[in-house]
Amino acid sequence: MAGAPRLVLATRNTGKLRELRELLRGQVPGLDVDTQVIDAASAGAPDVAETGVTFAENSLLKARAVAEATGLVAIADDSGLSVDVLGGAPGIFSARWAGRHGDDAANLQLLLDQLADVPDQHRGAAFVCAAALAVPSSSGDAHEVVEYGQLEGSLLREPRGDGGFGYDPILLPSGLDRSCAELAPEEKNAISHRGKAFRALLPSIVEALQ
Ligand code: IMP
Repeated sequence: MAGAPRLVLATRNTGKLRELRELLRGQVPGLDVDTQVIDAASAGAPDVAETGVTFAENSLLKARAVAEATGLVAIADDSGLSVDVLGGAPGIFSARWAGRHGDDAANLQLLLDQLADVPDQHRGAAFVCAAALAVPSSSGDAHEVVEYGQLEGSLLREPRGDGGFGYDPILLPSGLDRSCAELAPEEKNAISHRGKAFRALLPSIVEALQ
């Protein structure tokens, strides 16, 4: 029989939920990741506005709101692309760089146009992720933790590959000759900013669920 939910991921993205379940599988004695790790919609938690000005603030806002709404341990992430020559932009504006939230093709094209004259040696960039854990006050041990992960590389001049999403087709990870959109999902997870941030958070998640 399925146990009661114990951990909520503050996202509507089923891909992120699947990744988190795989990361947690076998890590917490007695935790059935397929039924006890759920997303915010399944937990009945409301959408949270990302009003912070850093990835860490936004991930914490989401985790905290979902923990308080559900009374369960919650985790959230916030991520984006940070371009060296743009002083870290698009950063927290990555999803709406061209004006409309989630228009990946327009965001990517605008960035390529902005960087058209930037020579190869100055095209450094990184995907950056903050992952936050919030333990609700109802547990008697309220606390919060934030961890970070980065995937460093450089920006191509043309999109390459059909996989992934967002800016994947133009980020060439350091040391590889394929863009993020040309990597298999497992290959990307192994080196990705989100994978690194969630793996760094894993000990805190395990402790919160003991
Ligand atoms: P979110 O944290 O899932 O809301 O991601 C914010 C935005 O950052 C996305 O809409 C993408 O534009 C960009 N982004 C974050 N992670 C990735 C990635 O792994 N690949 C490509 N783009 C990403």
